[in-house]
Amino acid sequence: MKILAINAGSSSLKFTLIELPQKEVIASGLFEKIGIAGSMYTIKYKGEKHVFEEDLPDHSVAVNKLMQALIDLKIIASLEEIEGVGHRIVHGGQEFSKSVILDEDVLKRIEKYNELAPLHNPANVMGVRAFMKALPGVIQVGVFDTAFHSTMDSVQFLYPVPYAWYEDLGVRKYGFHGTSHRFVNKEISEKLGRNDLKVISCHIGNGASITAIDSGKVIDTSMGFTPLAGVMMGTRSGDIDASLIPYVMKKLNKTCDEVMDDLNKQSGLLGISGVSSDSRDIEDAINLGNEKALLAQNMYAQKVANYIAMYNNLLNGADVITFTAGLGENSIMMREAIMARITSLGVKLDKEENNFRGEFKCITTKDSKIPVWVVPTNEELMIAMDTMELKNK
Ligand code: AMP
Repeated sequence: MKILAINAGSSSLKFTLIELPQKEVIASGLFEKIGIAGSMYTIKYKGEKHVFEEDLPDHSVAVNKLMQALIDLKIIASLEEIEGVGHRIVHGGQEFSKSVILDEDVLKRIEKYNELAPLHNPANVMGVRAFMKALPGVIQVGVFDTAFHSTMDSVQFLYPVPYAWYEDLGVRKYGFHGTSHRFVNKEISEKLGRNDLKVISCHIGNGASITAIDSGKVIDTSMGFTPLAGVMMGTRSGDIDASLIPYVMKKLNKTCDEVMDDLNKQSGLLGISGVSSDSRDIEDAINLGNEKALLAQNMYAQKVANYIAMYNNLLNGADVITFTAGLGENSIMMREAIMARITSLGVKLDKEENNFRGEFKCITTKDSKIPVWVVPTNEELMIAMDTMELKNK
């Protein structure tokens, strides 16, 4: 069965065409600058990259071009081969605790949460509508970043602020990267042959979040009301004292939106190092003796370590710690820096075993109290698998 996994942004659309149950990627690609000058798209198929520079005035045009290209490049013989489309939806509020079949009524319910994720949800929904038009009668499924975290208890998801903010405004922790944490939890549970694992899942990339999972249920996660909270990230600050915001607004004569922009886009690894948000640049700078770059890396590692220690306590002792995403899968240096900061948990890094990128592998010694695994994430596959499951129901 061929399933499309879609991630639609405000001016972009990423797709992966996956054959299930074989879990085989047939083709993938990216539509960029939709609705702006210089739009283009690329499609990868059988090791070749096809580049098209064409006008993409809106998402519907992009989706129609995709359908045409899939046929023209002989990736599929007819559109009927596409048996389902799974869509990443960032915010499902408190309402969506699982992936759902999408129709116009469900989309209207999702749109209620647009205010909570203004950069993402409207674009996600726009993508869904474009596919509904292009592939009428084909099942469309919504897979929410927030859904996996819906099992959190109020002790974890409430902020200690006036309770009415929660009741009247929906102010609470929602958590994000849920599809990735769920995938990693599934992978490690299958690998270790247990479904009662207590897992500390560290999704550490440009965006980063740490999640405590017990027997497949999220107990707590580091991102919050928005993806700004938790650990330090590529350009995001993570947790800060909220009083910084009015202070900096006054001192720098900035608006609230401008300071929020600084916290989202000018902070984290970039803000501290002044070098880059990309950890490869940070590592290069460290190797050249740049102290701010080293400080940025140490801070990032320390924030992750702090959450691991906190969640080990919350889980009353974790069975396994996992690293995933850009840094977790690929940064030997960052993994080592984090591991050096959680030795009080009895965790022992095997430096030789840590010397690799992008594999599913254990990086601790045999006598490590908690094993640490690198588990490559695959959100597209999870989205496609949810779509197949709902289609087969
Ligand atoms: P993501 O947001 O999951 O795509 O992760 C992006 C982050 O992963 C960036 O900071 C990249 O620099 C980092 N990353 C990817 N590959 C490597 C690598 N080989 N070494 C160090 N960092 C890497």
